[in-house]
Amino acid sequence: MQIRKLPVRGFASNSWLVFDEESRMAAVIDPSADAEVVLRLLREGNLTLSMILLTHGHFDHIFAADTLRASSGAPLMIHEKDAPMLTDATRNVSALFFGKGNVYKPADRLLHGGDALLLGNNIITVRHTPGHTEGSVCFVLPGRIFTGDTLFEGSIGRTDLPGGDERALNESLRRIAAMRGEYTLYTGHGNVTTLEHERKNNPYLSNI
Ligand SMILES: [Zn+2]
Ligand SMILES: [Zn+2]
Repeated sequence: MQIRKLPVRGFASNSWLVFDEESRMAAVIDPSADAEVVLRLLREGNLTLSMILLTHGHFDHIFAADTLRASSGAPLMIHEKDAPMLTDATRNVSALFFGKGNVYKPADRLLHGGDALLLGNNIITVRHTPGHTEGSVCFVLPGRIFTGDTLFEGSIGRTDLPGGDERALNESLRRIAAMRGEYTLYTGHGNVTTLEHERKNNPYLSNI
């Protein structure tokens, strides 16, 4: 599996292109990059976009969702609890930042904790990690976790937006910290880090 960080602008979250070298099947996790750039990279890499995955429903993770869907036909997937955020500018918080706000087409597939998504021969497991939002998830691959806005380098997601729940977030973080093995963490904002580094240095993980 290969992972590329996609270029983003302004408010946008980290956006990731994940692909299987053999089958050339690709996934975009949090489509906040320019759709044109993503489509060019897919073309240049001879990749087929087979799914668009959202770690949660906040606007800064979704910008290119509809353009990418329209151009590629790939289904957009989000946890069922965050799915209503796509079509509601208050819930996806874009109204708070931009006034009128942004809405998107409904999800093509609803995700649940424990779902296994096949990308070529690779399995992406969905972990429901509520707290930042009700339907926040982490996407887990061997040795890698895409944490969205649940866990950052040295920090954690905020819980003061609609659907935020500090107690739920702490429980989710406890479960992530308890995962056995070594993982690189691809976070929703900021730097790539590792679970080991965060277990040792992230003050929010030592307090739970
Ligand atoms: Zn975010
Ligand atoms: Zn968020």
